Amino acid sequence: MNYRTIDDLGSLQGKVVMLRADLNVPMNENFEVTNNARIVRTVPTIKELMSKGAKVVVVSHFGRPEGKGDMKNSLQHIVADLQKALGKNVVFVDDCIGEKVSAAVAKMSNDEVLLLENLRFYDEEKKGNETFAKELVKPADVYVSDAFSTAHRAHASMVAAVKERPAAMGRLMEEEVKALEGALSNPTRPLIAIVGGSKVSTKLDLLNNLVKKVDKLVISGGMAHTFMKASGIDTVNEANSLVQMDMIDTAKEIIKVAEANNCEIILPQDVVVSKEFKPNAEHKTVGLDEIPAEGWSLLDVGEKTISAINAKLDECKTLVWNGPLGVFEMKPFDNATNKVAQHAAEMTSAGKLMSVAGGGDTVSALENAGVAKKFTYISTAGGAFLEWMEGKELPGVAVLKK
Ligand code: AMP
Repeated sequence: MNYRTIDDLGSLQGKVVMLRADLNVPMNENFEVTNNARIVRTVPTIKELMSKGAKVVVVSHFGRPEGKGDMKNSLQHIVADLQKALGKNVVFVDDCIGEKVSAAVAKMSNDEVLLLENLRFYDEEKKGNETFAKELVKPADVYVSDAFSTAHRAHASMVAAVKERPAAMGRLMEEEVKALEGALSNPTRPLIAIVGGSKVSTKLDLLNNLVKKVDKLVISGGMAHTFMKASGIDTVNEANSLVQMDMIDTAKEIIKVAEANNCEIILPQDVVVSKEFKPNAEHKTVGLDEIPAEGWSLLDVGEKTISAINAKLDECKTLVWNGPLGVFEMKPFDNATNKVAQHAAEMTSAGKLMSVAGGGDTVSALENAGVAKKFTYISTAGGAFLEWMEGKELPGVAVLKK
């Protein structure tokens, strides 16, 4: 690893370690955590730091607060869940800087954790303000950054604070970075990418980066329609698909760059068309020359395409996946996503494939396919995962370079 990890920090005995976690969990109107995955995934880093003799002070953002005192977005609502997941007492301080924090740190015991109030109660956090970062780290000897999902933002706690103290990434960020480096920076080849989802326009940076890096690129979902049209499939039109006519030239350009880089593009060979946009609507699988001009919508790819994608997967050693192959939220239009995901999961279990997926709806699509746990790595980082796939340097990761 080219990045500093907890192993590079030396002895933590008796030190105050500030941990920048991502505790931005979903919550219902009764302030109950509805999915505690982010809390659970932060626990190993906290436990490890505590086992090394550190006093751990946790900081995080939470929701989209409108300034200080927006109690709806207070981190106090997650104290009970963190305490339960950790099995330790969690002391909450209703500020993240200032006297109250210093006093609480001075008083804390080795067997408890301090959780500070939402970083985004201060505008300075999002602005990456250095003075705020200096204030934040005041009570800490060491800083550990574990919020990979925020690493694409140069916020004060992600960059400026890291520069103020001996710093390292936590185990969660380390795991994410290792998986993403293994998938895109130093992959075992052949490397295949599957990109699905709705529109080409939202994935241009992603596609432009991938065609230069991967050996094979599967384009599916609604965004494939523009590429099909650009490849001369004239049965695809605005009445039956998500084709973006203003993106045809861009799609042609991406195809050209792919050719120049020996990247094979795999497009749908048959499609599932549906009478209506609703679950279990009347539907049929048709060849590309049989797509009805109107009255039917392209909602998934067919069995011939599924077999073709799976055959390409068989030739590959590494897979990166973003975006569903069809409208996976409605049965049976989740069929292609499910079958390809299941094939990738089987290959992964057999040790033949390293599979990394993430971004937007991909996690729910793979959960729906019942294979999320069988992939090598599923990133829940969303925006940060996508920016990594787009080839962008993430400021919150770059700052931790050795
Ligand atoms: P994205 O956030 O761009 O990855 O897009 C995910 C969305 O793309 C999901 O909500 C899918 O339902 C949608 N999608 C995938 N394939 C199609 C399709 N053929 N037509 C319309 N929407 C699609």
